[in-house]
Amino acid sequence: MQNILDFTLEELQLWMKSKGQPAFRAKQIFDWIYNKGIFDFNKMTNLPKAMIESLNEELIINIPQVVDKFISKQDDTIKFLMSLHDGNLIESVVMKYSHGNSICISTQIGCRMGCKFCASTIDGMVRNLSSGEIISQILLAQSVLGERISNIVLMGSGEPLDNYENVKKFLYLVNAPYSLNIGQRHITLSTCGIVPNIVDLANEDMQITLAISLHAPNDFIRKQSMPIANKYSISELLGACKYYVDKTNRRITFEYALINGFNDGIKEAEELSKLLKGLLCHVNLIPVNEIKERDFKKSKLENINKFKECLESKGIPTTIRREMGSDINAACGQLRRSYIEKNS
Ligand code: SAH
Repeated sequence: MQNILDFTLEELQLWMKSKGQPAFRAKQIFDWIYNKGIFDFNKMTNLPKAMIESLNEELIINIPQVVDKFISKQDDTIKFLMSLHDGNLIESVVMKYSHGNSICISTQIGCRMGCKFCASTIDGMVRNLSSGEIISQILLAQSVLGERISNIVLMGSGEPLDNYENVKKFLYLVNAPYSLNIGQRHITLSTCGIVPNIVDLANEDMQITLAISLHAPNDFIRKQSMPIANKYSISELLGACKYYVDKTNRRITFEYALINGFNDGIKEAEELSKLLKGLLCHVNLIPVNEIKERDFKKSKLENINKFKECLESKGIPTTIRREMGSDINAACGQLRRSYIEKNS
């Protein structure tokens, strides 16, 4: 059966047409799903009985099941472990801010990028998520919370640009007025840097924020922690970033996970500032989350602050990421892994 969440409005209208039904039914159904949060055709009271029957026979509204839910005592961050129709597990995290609810969602089951500090990639990639599976994480979280989600970050498990077509479809779908109508400026896509797809994304002319997982000021250091650096040099990556800025006029975020003694010295901060000079960007420093499978250690607070000061003194706007939900394993892939380990 096809997942109706994988359909755009146009696709559902075509489906209706193929059944000899009027196109306006498609909009009614989407209104139930995306506005009213109703995930059962039988409850769509403005549809004819016969149509409900044929919907039930041929389409499914594939909402994941909540396997587990953790609420941080520190900051109300909620972490969901969700199970998909085929039993695969994914994680999503809702963060509550004064400006609204933000959700961090996954784009793949596992990941094949192999970054050394990341828990999502340890067992490799199982499969891509469909656009409907990506959006369903938001639908489920909204329905559990009973609150609207207004910001999305594609920073959960998986590499969004390694699942490019589905992610692109998701970006259009989630922004569409007939769907969740979330503004592109409220969406951030984080990538380890798949250069041709960054260029492609720039050509889509969307207003989303691009975040680049840079994590190093030169190829030598980057290659030691991120295999993708063997494929694309930092210079190629920054070329694509510049193209993105020129096309979209959007400020790029560079994520930089600070690892003690590895990439967190003043020398690296200076090198980074030279690299980014003149580009419309800002740097988000992330004290690395220590994961038990790896021996990377978090930078010392003193070094984190020095790193930030150095970048700022060279004119690079810099923030230090607030560590949210650290009491509930809210970092990428940690929850799914610990669950799979426990149950195998
Ligand atoms: N694959 C995408 C998005 C997922 S990861 C990407 O690489 O950007 C989201 C961010 O968390 C990335 O910047 C990633 O490098 C970072 N990250 C992964 N593991 C981390 C850890 N243990 N500590 C801090 N940041 C981590």
